[in-house]
Amino acid sequence: MQKNETLSVIIPSFNEQDNIQRTFHTIRKILSKGHIPFEIIFVDDGSKDDTFNKIKELSAQNQEVKGISFSRNFGKESAIFAGLESACGACCVIMDCDLQHPPDVLPEMYRLWQEGYEVVEGIKTSRGRENPAHTLFARLFYRLISNATGFDMSKASDFKLLDRKAVDALLSMPERAPFFRALSSWIGFCSISLPFEVQERTYGSSKWSFGSLTKYAIRNITSFSGIPMQFVTLMGWLMLFASLALGIQSLYKYFSGTALEGFTTVILLQLIIGSVLMISLGIIGHYISRIYDEIKARPRYLVARKCGF
Ligand code: UDP
Ligand code: MG
Repeated sequence: MQKNETLSVIIPSFNEQDNIQRTFHTIRKILSKGHIPFEIIFVDDGSKDDTFNKIKELSAQNQEVKGISFSRNFGKESAIFAGLESACGACCVIMDCDLQHPPDVLPEMYRLWQEGYEVVEGIKTSRGRENPAHTLFARLFYRLISNATGFDMSKASDFKLLDRKAVDALLSMPERAPFFRALSSWIGFCSISLPFEVQERTYGSSKWSFGSLTKYAIRNITSFSGIPMQFVTLMGWLMLFASLALGIQSLYKYFSGTALEGFTTVILLQLIIGSVLMISLGIIGHYISRIYDEIKARPRYLVARKCGF
């Protein structure tokens, strides 16, 4: 029996009608030239435009193209996992539909896999053009997430090649809100980094707004780390030390015969303690809601249609 050497290219696509054709042809050209057997799985993440029709058209003309369409928008992570679950290649690569992850790197990734590497991580040499607030926010997020995971995530991207073993390890994790970029480092295996330059997006626009990025950051930090809950403990200790200091000062004033002017201090303390308690409850509440989501065990995504399988 011939050994399976197929590369499955998984492409999460959300409102990418203008990119599907171009992305497919670019990838096909590069992989055919390198004599790499491949399949391309486009995962339409509940697009509102013509994305799935474009995928269907391509799939009807090319047997390498497969398509999965979600019943609504479930997010990029879900699309990645849906692609991994349906892939039948010996290795899988995840890339964006807007060609910001350059496909010319694919043959090199594949070669490294053939050499025996089980995870080939695309590492960004630059972040491409984006506004300064975005860069600052991203830096803060990656600092926090690197601390939480224990891996340097500052240049990490979703552009990765994974061997079948690594794919199976990822798929065996039952968590509802997986953070692909960090989980694929967490699983270990024999890995190597491959630098690539983030390209400019030609068609369509980035799906990220400041609000959605903030939600993404909080969700992923808390999915990987309990450290925010330590904030509650830390604030507790700080308040305890502050109240001790204040207590000593009040006693000193009392014994030295100075009248205490307490009203303002009491109001301020009430407000500070009140805020700290509410923030703490909020943090704990967030974790409880995450547990609630896990307990409900709803599927990560729902498939409405498929083509090419
Ligand atoms: N994407 C997705 N679901 C979403 C948002 C984005 O599948 O809810 C896909 C999108 O189609 C693209 C990739 O994820 O292929 C990266 O998205 P985008 O280019 O908007 O992000 P950026 O490059 O700005 O980080
Ligand atoms: Mg992009």
